[in-house]
Amino acid sequence: MRKALVAGNWKMHGRIEQNKLLLDGLLTQLSGLPEADIDVVICPPLVYLAQIEALIKGSSVALGSQDVSRFSSDGAHTGESSAEMLADLGVRYVIVGHSERRSEHDETDDQVATKVVNALALELTPIVCVGETLEQREADQVADVISRQLKGAISSLRRSEAERLVIAYEPVWAIGTGKTATPEQAQEVHAFIRQYLTSVFDEELSQGVTLLYGGSVNSTNAAVLFEQVDIDGGLIGGASLKSDEFTAICRAA
Ligand code: 13P
Repeated sequence: MRKALVAGNWKMHGRIEQNKLLLDGLLTQLSGLPEADIDVVICPPLVYLAQIEALIKGSSVALGSQDVSRFSSDGAHTGESSAEMLADLGVRYVIVGHSERRSEHDETDDQVATKVVNALALELTPIVCVGETLEQREADQVADVISRQLKGAISSLRRSEAERLVIAYEPVWAIGTGKTATPEQAQEVHAFIRQYLTSVFDEELSQGVTLLYGGSVNSTNAAVLFEQVDIDGGLIGGASLKSDEFTAICRAA
């Protein structure tokens, strides 16, 4: 039985005062949620990780980073933060290969693979993002794109590493657009991801890996998405910036 997971990706949003208000609201509203049923993760911008770590201390909310360096050792890498540094700060999850990193920073599948390895080496849980663009969907290339991204990012992992992954399906056309994939569209790709994991590893591993859907999830559409057999929770952008919305999504998971 897979545990539900909801992760809030704040992207480049937040200010010290605003973050505190949001977290105060969230922690109060989330306090009734049974910890045994759901993991909740907050991924603020890097500069606010330490602030959020202090605010969530003692709660059941976990800290996540939006990225990790592909460099694993300390050195002359201006602007980078290593998996070791993130772990040092109390980070437990790392989003890797988000489509905004792929498109705005030309991140390749190879780089995503390196980041996954770096995160796993420090016992961080990678949330590996995959997803097609609208053009790719219209050209009937969804399966090709998803399998290429998965192959690039995870196929060289050992089984014992792969079983610690979280994979997020985030169709690029659904991110920040208000256009959510239908539950059927999302389920179809999630089932495909499980099949892929079975083909590379085995059925037991595939059934154990947590799969999230991301792309315009809100309090209205969350329940019907999370009802799908292969959808275990969500990676939430815009709606994670409002405590009422985010709490309602967590409750739906
Ligand atoms: P939105 O929920 O704002 O569409 O963003 C989804 C996302 O990219 C989460 O990583």
